[in-house]
Amino acid sequence: MALARIIDGRAFAAGILAEVTAETAELAAAGVVPGLAVVLVGEDPASQIYVRNKARTTKEAGMASFEYRLDAETSERDLLALVAELNDDPAVHGILVQLPLPRHIDSARVLDAISPDKDVDGFHVINAGRLAAGLPGLVPCTPLGCLLMLKAELGDLSGARAVVLGRSNIVGKPMAALLLRESCTVTIAHSRTRDLAEECRRADILVAAVGQPELVRGSWIKPGATVMDVGINRVAGEGGKTRLVGDVAFAEALEVAGRITPVPGGVGPMTIACLLRNTLTAAKRIA
Ligand code: NAD
Repeated sequence: MALARIIDGRAFAAGILAEVTAETAELAAAGVVPGLAVVLVGEDPASQIYVRNKARTTKEAGMASFEYRLDAETSERDLLALVAELNDDPAVHGILVQLPLPRHIDSARVLDAISPDKDVDGFHVINAGRLAAGLPGLVPCTPLGCLLMLKAELGDLSGARAVVLGRSNIVGKPMAALLLRESCTVTIAHSRTRDLAEECRRADILVAAVGQPELVRGSWIKPGATVMDVGINRVAGEGGKTRLVGDVAFAEALEVAGRITPVPGGVGPMTIACLLRNTLTAAKRIA
């Protein structure tokens, strides 16, 4: 059998960013420059890289970028006060508080303090509820990116059997809700699922978001299935270096699947593209 087609997330993301940039220019010409505020608390190195990349891409798309770097000792009260200020700021259309937050801060309380209309991460309980109820709202960026690629690759998803591995509020649950909205038959599998391999083998569409390096083996994949690998895991590589792998054993999966996203270069680039797409959506709605 031929090897799976590798889905190029970077190319998809570039296409979305080009559309967002063009629409941003139109909106700016009409007097509204979409603005994204990103708040980072503490010095987590991975978060610093994410925040830097988000700010750069925001500016490249012609949007206004507002960065807030607060020290690790910032109190929850001060963070909530900043969120309230940003909620009221007419130049800010999207607010993103970078996770994880230091342990003395209640993340859920902070995320729910963000105005649902500016919640471009889609983590607010109101937006989670809207998604579950099939109402329009802001949708979490990573599952949205997966869905856009799936629809572009496969067209109508109606009736497909989809299995989502992982049930986090950030990826697994919203991914399952989006696939249900597309009329897939959806199974959510997780750490307590009895026979993970058997569940996976039923999937026409398999989305892996568990954070376990190469958990999904080639033998777990239905021949011809479409595999979206959300996992980003750093493992030991050659010569003492580290390398990134997904939640799927890529080389094995390539022999069985019909289409597959690589790690890196698959789902990852779509997350930031969808963040800016959400910021544009929020700006248009607010304007
Ligand atoms: P999480 O830790 O919040 O959730 C992991 C989920 O996987 C849980 O629901 C758990 O039940 C399930 N799980 C864990 N071990 C399992 C096992 N052995 N078998 C079956 N299920 C298991 O993680 P998350 O935030 O949803 O992220 C998942 C992965 O996706 C991580 O690797 C993360 O780095 C990555 N991620 C990537 C992007 C991106 O932009 N590509 C964005 C967000 C998360």
